[in-house]
Amino acid sequence: MSARRWVLASGNEGKRRELEALLAPLGIVLVAQSEWALPDVAETGETFVENALLKARAASEATGLAALADDSGLIVDALDGAPGLRSARYAAVSADDRPDDAANVARLLSALGQTPMERRTARFVCVLVVLRHAADPDPIVARGVWEGRIAMAPRGEAGFGYDPVFELPTQGRTAAELPAAEKNAVSHRARALAALRAQLMAP
Ligand code: IMP
Repeated sequence: MSARRWVLASGNEGKRRELEALLAPLGIVLVAQSEWALPDVAETGETFVENALLKARAASEATGLAALADDSGLIVDALDGAPGLRSARYAAVSADDRPDDAANVARLLSALGQTPMERRTARFVCVLVVLRHAADPDPIVARGVWEGRIAMAPRGEAGFGYDPVFELPTQGRTAAELPAAEKNAVSHRARALAALRAQLMAP
C-alpha cells in the first residue's frame, strides 16, 4: 500500500489517537476528517461492516486519501442480537433523539427483565475497514469480539456506553470495573486493532 496519509472516518479524537499509535510504526499518519469538515454519513447499512464501509467510502471520496473507519456495538443473544447496530441510540424515542448512556443501559436492563444470568450472554463487536481509495473493490476488513454477559444491575464507574452492565464471566467484574489500561488490552477494539495490524504487516 503506497498511501501514507490516511483519513479517519470518525469525529472522535480519542479514537484517532489510539489508532494512530498503532499505525505510526507502519509509517501511516492518520488525519482527522474534521480537517475537511465532512457532513455526517447516514449509517443505513444492515451490518457493522456495511456501515464502516459507508463511512470509509464517504471520507475517501471527499479527501482523495485512503480511509479507515470503524463501527461497533453490543449484541445480546436473548434479544435476538439487539441493541446491535442501534447500540448508540437504543433508548431513542424519536429520530433526532440522542439518548445518554444511562438511558440505553436502563432500556437494556428492562428488555432483559429477570432473564437468568446463564441466558444473558452478550458480546461487543468492533469492525475496522480500510479503503485504499474510494473505489477500492477489495477493502481490508478486521474484526474483534469481546464475550461477556449482561449483569442484573450496573456496577463500576470507568469506561462508557454499556460498560457498567457488561460482565466478564471469568472475572465477575464489569467492564466499568476494569482500569482503562486493562480494558484497552482485551476489548473488542483492541482485538480488531490487532487483527488489522496483522493484515497490514502480512507480506
Ligand atoms: P461507535 O461504533 O463508537 O459509534 O459505538 C456504538 C455504540 O456501541 C456506542 O455508542 C456504545 O453504546 C456501544 N459501545 C461500543 N463500544 C463500546 C465499549 O467499549 N463499551 C461500551 N459500549 C460500547
